[in-house]
Amino acid sequence: MIPPDHPRYRSLMVRERLARCAEAGVVALEGLAAHGRGEAFDYLIGERTTPSALLAARTAAAMLLLAENPVISVNGNTAALAAREIGELQRASGAAVEVNLFHRTEERIRRITRLLEEEGVVVLSGEAERLLPLSHDRAWCLPQGIGAADVVLVPLEDGDRCAALAAMGKRVIVVDLNPLSRTARTAALTIVDEVTRALPHVTAACSDLDPAEAAALITSMDNAYLLRTAIDEIITRLSHALD
Ligand code: ATP
Repeated sequence: MIPPDHPRYRSLMVRERLARCAEAGVVALEGLAAHGRGEAFDYLIGERTTPSALLAARTAAAMLLLAENPVISVNGNTAALAAREIGELQRASGAAVEVNLFHRTEERIRRITRLLEEEGVVVLSGEAERLLPLSHDRAWCLPQGIGAADVVLVPLEDGDRCAALAAMGKRVIVVDLNPLSRTARTAALTIVDEVTRALPHVTAACSDLDPAEAAALITSMDNAYLLRTAIDEIITRLSHALD
């Protein structure tokens, strides 16, 4: 039992949830290691949404709203951490949701789908095909889902798949706390924020953006600027760490 007055209460609760989801076969053990890397970067960024991450979240909303076939690609960590937030974003944006896994088994797909559906997410189903030019299992996706998408939001992506999606002409939005990752640098748009903080900002923007602001956000989108700003945040925090 984690005492609510523990200074790291939220982080410990999240770890406990991920551990339970790993035992239940929703999160891969490798996903726990990936979460640890995210936690480290969250510490550096101050465990808060920075102004540039908020700008990125609003731009993501604009991209989803103006897309023809937007798809949200969900893995085990995202489902374990943010199933409710995915449901809210799906309802606000009209995007389809597809489960896509690095460590893919039909059983894991079923478990993750069930967890998402319990939170009101409508999950695409059908026969997956090896559509992406990748040697690992993330190559498998649904022709009517990610296969047909023009914009793909992938919270917690890996660099290879992000590049493969981009090479297929898709606009890729990622949420990644590490502004140095290959994923962050390959995506069309990176939200450098923790996934459960980032998604509600995207959802809120889906409801309050007007068409002119949405178009302006897309025209002025600059991922290199967003990553540089996130790195500057970290440098500033580190340089004042012992003040
Ligand atoms: P790349 O292939 O892009 O260089 P990687 O090998 O570092 O990436 P993975 O191990 O595939 O990345 O995924 C982990 C990434 O997800 C890390 O960059 C980490 O910062 C990020 N991450 C983990 N948990 C979260 C979270 N809750 N919110 C946002 N980002 C997260």
